[in-house]
Amino acid sequence: MKSVLFSVFFLLLPWMIIVIIMIDFDGKRVVRAPFTGRHGGTHAVTQGVVTKNQSALQIIYAITPTYTRPVQKAELTRVAHAFRQVTRFHWIVVEDSTSRTELVTRFLRGCGVPYTHLNVYTPQRFKRKGMPRATEQRNLALTWLRQHRSHRDPGVVYFADDDNAYSLEVFEEMRDTRAVSVWPVGFAGGRTYERPLVSKGKVVGWYTGWRAGRPFAIDMAGFAVNLNVILANPQALFKRQGSKPGMQESDFLKQITKVSELEPKANNCTRVLVWHTRTENPHLAKEVKYIKDKDTVAVEV
Ligand code: UDP
Ligand code: MN
Repeated sequence: MKSVLFSVFFLLLPWMIIVIIMIDFDGKRVVRAPFTGRHGGTHAVTQGVVTKNQSALQIIYAITPTYTRPVQKAELTRVAHAFRQVTRFHWIVVEDSTSRTELVTRFLRGCGVPYTHLNVYTPQRFKRKGMPRATEQRNLALTWLRQHRSHRDPGVVYFADDDNAYSLEVFEEMRDTRAVSVWPVGFAGGRTYERPLVSKGKVVGWYTGWRAGRPFAIDMAGFAVNLNVILANPQALFKRQGSKPGMQESDFLKQITKVSELEPKANNCTRVLVWHTRTENPHLAKEVKYIKDKDTVAVEV
C-alpha cells in the first residue's frame, strides 16, 4: 500500500511542479514593472530613461485645477496613480488658493509625476452656485504653457479635473492629436455617456441629454488640443463674461476649431475611456469643533 502511494506521488510530482511554475509565470506577467527613472520636482521635468522611440511621442500636458476640501488629497492620490503610468506626461496642477498649500506641495513632491505647481484664487464673486468653476485656474495653465513652451515643443493639452476617473487608454488615444481630438465621456450630458456622433470619420453631431444645441456638446474630459493650436491662438481662453455654466467647453473650442475639423478617437467615439465621476462629501458630523478636543498629533488627511 505504502509503495503504491509513493509511486503515485512521484508520478504526479513533475506535473505539480509544472503547474506551479506556470501559475508563477502568469502571475509575474500581469504585475507591472515598478516605475523607475522619473521624479516629480517643482517646475521641473526630469525624465530619466527615455528611449528613442518614446522621445518621439508628444508630451501630454494635463491641466488639473484643484481646491482645498476634505477629499482633496484622496482625489489627487487616485488620479496620480493613473498619471504616473503614462510616459511623456507633464502634470500642471493649479490650486484655487491664494498661495501654494503645503499639502499639495508635499503631495506633488512625492507623487512620481513630472509636474508644475501653480496657484490662482477664484474671486469670491465667482464662487457661487451656477457659476462656471476653475476658469481662472485653467487659464493660468494656458498662460504658463504660452510662456514656457514654444512651437518646437511637441505636446498635447488635456483638461483633467481631479475627480474624474481616467483609463490609461484615453492617454494613448489623445497622444497623436494633430489639432483637436474628441471622444465619449461617461456620466456626462445627463446620460450614462455623452459622445460625438461620427460618420465617415467626421464628427456630424452629438449624442447628449443636455443642451443638445451646444456647438460642441462635450465635457472638459472629452477633448484634447495640440499645444501648437494653443500657441497659435494666444487669445483663446475660458471666458467668465457671457459664458453660461456648461458652456465653457463649447465657448473655448469655438475659438480654436470647427466641428468638421475634429479628430474622432476611441474607435470613432464608440468607447468610453474616461468618466465624469463625482465624489460624495464625506460625513464629518462628528468632526471636533474645539481645540481642546483635537487629536494630540497633527494628522494630514
Ligand atoms: N475646482 C476648483 N475650484 C472650485 C471648484 C472646483 O479649482 O471652487 C476644480 C475641481 O477640483 C475640479 C474642477 O475644478 O478639478 C471641476 O470642478 P468640479 O469637479 O467641482 O466640477 P463638476 O465636475 O461638478 O462640473
Ligand atoms: Mn468634477
